[in-house]
Amino acid sequence: MNNLASYALTTTRGRLIYEEPPKYRSEFGRDRDRIIHSTAFRRLEYKTQVFINHEGDLFRTRLTHSLEVAQIGRSVANALKLNADLVEAICLAHDLGHTPFGHVGQDELNRCMHKACGEGFEHNLQSLRIVDKLEERYAQFDGLNLTFETREGILKHCSIKTAKTLGDLGSRFLNDTQPSLEAQLANIADELAYNFHDVDDGLRAGIITLEQLKKVSIVAEELSYLQKKYPALNGRRLHKELVRHLINKTIYDLIEATTLNLKKNNIITPQDVYKALPIVIYTEPMMQKQKDLKKFLLKNLYKHSSVMQLRFKSANIVRRLFEAFVSDTGLLPESYQEKIPSSGLHRVVADYISGMTDRYAFRQYNRLFTVENI
Ligand code: MG
Repeated sequence: MNNLASYALTTTRGRLIYEEPPKYRSEFGRDRDRIIHSTAFRRLEYKTQVFINHEGDLFRTRLTHSLEVAQIGRSVANALKLNADLVEAICLAHDLGHTPFGHVGQDELNRCMHKACGEGFEHNLQSLRIVDKLEERYAQFDGLNLTFETREGILKHCSIKTAKTLGDLGSRFLNDTQPSLEAQLANIADELAYNFHDVDDGLRAGIITLEQLKKVSIVAEELSYLQKKYPALNGRRLHKELVRHLINKTIYDLIEATTLNLKKNNIITPQDVYKALPIVIYTEPMMQKQKDLKKFLLKNLYKHSSVMQLRFKSANIVRRLFEAFVSDTGLLPESYQEKIPSSGLHRVVADYISGMTDRYAFRQYNRLFTVENI
């Protein structure tokens, strides 16, 4: 902790409920530990990233994704002398609110909520709702009672309407200021991790090929470097080396561009960060390369027919579960029925469905709709 830069966040604005400071770990270290022990964190193991969890044992899940995000975040934080405990806490919590079946689950639940009550569903806000309200494990408070800084980092984006309801936490969206460097880093580490692990998983699944990937400039450069250096390398080991090199190259760019940015913008203290432009960013050419890669993945992986078919099926499951629970609250577990008076029917149903793992959602669907199971 003594080796941090002057612009790193080292103190907290506090927790919603006051607690004595921890004796042997930092405030942000305590946040990280609480997140790891939460129920929502364990559920991430059985939630889809891109591939449905039971399609194969080696694809990323939300849990392994979150661990990779935290690894990248921590490494870059150490290189930039930022507060790695805070970065790690934000990274580990950033996807806690994800529905089953990845983004398609979220989009469908959002549609259902809009139609039913005019409110939406957004995984980012749901992550905050989990750490602020839904976890039930402490005697003195609901949620995990995390620090302001971890909560600020979890809330990556937010509508103006919602920001107005969030007090201090929402003010940066109203004033158009930046979050801490640690929060900025966690955000970019998320994107960095999924871009490359999706390349890795896509190659493993055989949905994309190295030949196709060569159309993306950053891949072409690294691949030709590797083929010159190791002419005999091929197959899985080439693909793994490639992904490793891509991640390294991108991380180096991020560290070097951010170091320059800190100097250029004269960032000395954490307060200097709020009014500046985003500081933790890539160089211009790298930003373009990342955009090209994203475009490639959207077209060739996320919209591939085999992925789209599963998306179709998953969206149907989420929609039909939502309709069933809303039409008959007696189908909800008693512990959720009890929350209807305080949270409202639709929000309770959204909390229940979004908390499901992929396989739990399949089981619930089969229980309610599959005749063979009677
Ligand atoms: Mg993520």
